[in-house]
Amino acid sequence: MSVQLTEQDLKRYSRHLVLPGFGVEGQNRLLSSSALVVGLGQQGLAASLYLAAAGVGHLGLVEPEEGERPEFLRYAGGAGALLPVGAVRRRLEELNPAVRVDQYLGTGMEDLVARYDVVVACVRAARRREELNRFCLAHRRPLVGAVVRGWEGHAFTVLPGEGPCWHCVFPDDSDALLTEGLGLLVAGALGILQATEAIKVLLGLGDPLSGRYLSLDGMTGRLRQVKCRVDPGCPCCSGPRGE
Ligand SMILES: [Zn+2]
Repeated sequence: MSVQLTEQDLKRYSRHLVLPGFGVEGQNRLLSSSALVVGLGQQGLAASLYLAAAGVGHLGLVEPEEGERPEFLRYAGGAGALLPVGAVRRRLEELNPAVRVDQYLGTGMEDLVARYDVVVACVRAARRREELNRFCLAHRRPLVGAVVRGWEGHAFTVLPGEGPCWHCVFPDDSDALLTEGLGLLVAGALGILQATEAIKVLLGLGDPLSGRYLSLDGMTGRLRQVKCRVDPGCPCCSGPRGE
């Protein structure tokens, strides 16, 4: 489906339209695309704000499961204020009325994954990243993931059938560790990076973080890339249960 850009759209996206490889065609494709953001802490909030501002036409927001909710309230709402997913949705719609935003509870994830063009994983629990990895592989949906460990964060994109999956790269993944201060900034920075990755994947632009992951050390300000490859013994993407 192609979307006709209005005069207001041309003004709103003027900075994208001049980017190499983007243009009116790219913006139209983005407006016809969808992204599912799972988890709405600092990381997911940053990702969803930038995806909406960029004009991804349909965003799905998945509320964190019960165990993750305190973090969501604390960081997204600030100062202990309550900021339910509905408030995030309204904020995104205010930011860009051209974007349709749907919200979900964290159930029926496999069906949700199958309905969106790209999945952005911003969850704290390692088992949820593993689950999203499996669902994305099964439905051949790109997965843009990131995990925070205090001052450090790693971002990685799974392109099913084209490179390693999340489990190949992080077989010992553990729950995200968020700390005060810079740890949260790292989470926000990763969320913006994930939005950029998702947009690249949706438009087929540039080199996604597949076959390598990006590691950000907030303490030293260092960025490094780590090469990674498919694990032939990976229970998710290799062997009889994989591809
Ligand atoms: Zn794998």
